[in-house]
Amino acid sequence: MWLYRRRLEIGAVVFWAVLVALSLAHNLGLLDQQAREGALARARMLFSVIETTRLWNANHGGLYALVTPDSPANPYLDLPNRDVVINGAPYTLINPAYMTRQISELVERQNGASFRITSLAPLRPDNALDPWERLALQRFAEGEAEFVERTEYKSQPVYRYMARLQVKQPCLECHAKQGYQVGDSRGGISVTIPATVVAGELAPQRTQAISLHLAGFVLLAGASVVFLGRLRSSWAALGEAKAAEERNVATRTAELSAAIDELARSNSELESFAYVASHDLQEPLRMISLYAQLIDRRYGERLDDEGREFLGYMSDGAGRMKGMIDDLLAYSRVGRGVHNFAATDTRVALDVALANLAGAIAEAGATVNVADSMPVVSGEMPLLARLFQNLVGNAIKYRRPEMAPVVTISVGKSGDYWRFAVADNGIGIPSESRDRIFQIFQRLHTRGSYPGTGIGLAIAKKIVERHGGTIGVAAAEGGGAEFFFTLPADVAPAEQDAKLQLDSQLNGRTA
Ligand code: ADP
Repeated sequence: MWLYRRRLEIGAVVFWAVLVALSLAHNLGLLDQQAREGALARARMLFSVIETTRLWNANHGGLYALVTPDSPANPYLDLPNRDVVINGAPYTLINPAYMTRQISELVERQNGASFRITSLAPLRPDNALDPWERLALQRFAEGEAEFVERTEYKSQPVYRYMARLQVKQPCLECHAKQGYQVGDSRGGISVTIPATVVAGELAPQRTQAISLHLAGFVLLAGASVVFLGRLRSSWAALGEAKAAEERNVATRTAELSAAIDELARSNSELESFAYVASHDLQEPLRMISLYAQLIDRRYGERLDDEGREFLGYMSDGAGRMKGMIDDLLAYSRVGRGVHNFAATDTRVALDVALANLAGAIAEAGATVNVADSMPVVSGEMPLLARLFQNLVGNAIKYRRPEMAPVVTISVGKSGDYWRFAVADNGIGIPSESRDRIFQIFQRLHTRGSYPGTGIGLAIAKKIVERHGGTIGVAAAEGGGAEFFFTLPADVAPAEQDAKLQLDSQLNGRTA
C-alpha cells in the first residue's frame, strides 16, 4: 500500500539509478579504454627498447660477460668461442635472446611487467609459444604488425602485447642454420603488463568517477523525491479545495431545488386558489346580473334617470367582472390537470382560432396572411387554438384607427424548434413595456381606449411554456408588433411528411 502510494517517488529513484548507472558504466568503459591505451603505449615502448638493445647486441656479435651464478653460460648457444677466460676470469657470450631473457627477469622484479622472446622454432624449449602467442603469430601471418589483448596470464588479469620480430642480417650469424632468412618473422617478443598495475594508476580517476556519480544520484533522486512530495501535497490541497467546492455546489443545488419546489408548490396553490375563487365567484355574480336585470324590467319605469344610470353602471360592472372571471378561469385551467399532448397540426389550430375570430376580422376589415405550410407539433389542440386566437385577436384589436389591419402568420425552423410569428401593422408596443405585458392583468391602455382584461398574453405565455417553448415580442416592420413563440420540433419527420403531402393535395384541390 505504502509502496503503491509512493510509486512516483520509487519510479523517479529507479529512473535516476538506471541513468546514473548507465553514465557510470560509460565512464568506466572510457577509463578501461584509457587503461588499454596506456598499457599499449607502455608495451610498445618496452618492445622498441628491447628490439633496439637486441639489435645493438647482434650488431656486436653478442657480448662477453662475467660468468656468475645468475648469468651462467647459455647451454643453447652452440658457438666455438662461447666461453673465454680473460685475466683468469671466465667470461661467456651473451647473445640477444639470452640478454632479452635476463633483462626480462630484471624488469619483472622491478615493476611487474615482463616480456618473453618466443618463436615457432626456439633454440631454448622455454621460449616455445604459449597458446596466446600462437594466436598472435597467426595474426602476424594474416598481415597484422602487432596484437594487444586484455587476458589472463598465470591466473592474473594482464594486458598482453606482441609485435612481429623480423630477422635482420646480424641475426643470421646464429640463426642461419635454422633456415632463417632476412625479413622472416618466425617469432616475436610478447610484453605482459599486469592489469592491476595499470588499474592502480587509474584508481584515483575510477574512485572520482564513482563518487561523482554516487553524489549525482543522491542529489537527483533526493531532489525528485522532495519535489514529488511537494507536488503531492499541492495535489491533495487542490483535491480538497475541489471537493469543498463540489460540496458547496451540491448544497446550493439542493437549496435551489428546494426553493424551486417551494415556488412550484406555492404557484400551484395560487392557481388552485384562483380557480376556486373565480369558479365560486361566478354564482353570486350571476345573481347580481340577474337581479339587476329584474330590477330594470320590473321597476325600471319607476326609477328616475339617475337611478336607471346607476343600474346601467351596475350591469356594466357585473358584465366586465364576468369577463375577468372567465379569463381568470381560462388562465388557471391552462396549468391544471393532465395535458394530453398529441401530434397536432398547427394549421388546424390556427383555422379554429380564425373561425372564432371571424366576426372581429370582418368587422375590422382585416386581412390575415397565413404561411403556405405549417408544421405538426406535439401539443393540445384547444390550447394551441387559444394561443393563436389571443395573438391574432390582439393584432386586430390594437389596430391604428386610420388603417385596415393586416396580420401575417409565418413559421420557420430554428435549431430544434419551430419559430412562429404573428406580425401586425397596429399601434406597436414601446420597447420598455415588452416584458410587462406578459404578466397577468398588465395592460398598456385604459379600458376606454381598448377593452380587455390584461390576461390574454399571460394565457398565451403559459400555453407556450406548457409546450416547452418561449414567447416574446419585437417591433414589426412599419411600427406594428410582432409576437413570436417557439415550439419543440420533435414530431417524427414521417408524420411531418404525411401532413405536407396532405397540405399539397388540399392546396391543389382548392386551386
Ligand atoms: P388585453 O388585450 O386584454 O388588454 P393582453 O394580455 O392580451 O390583455 O395584452 C396586454 C397588453 O399588451 C394590452 O393591454 C396591450 O396594451 C398590449 N398589446 C397586446 N397585443 C398587442 C398588439 N398586437 N399591439 C399592440 N399592443 C398590444
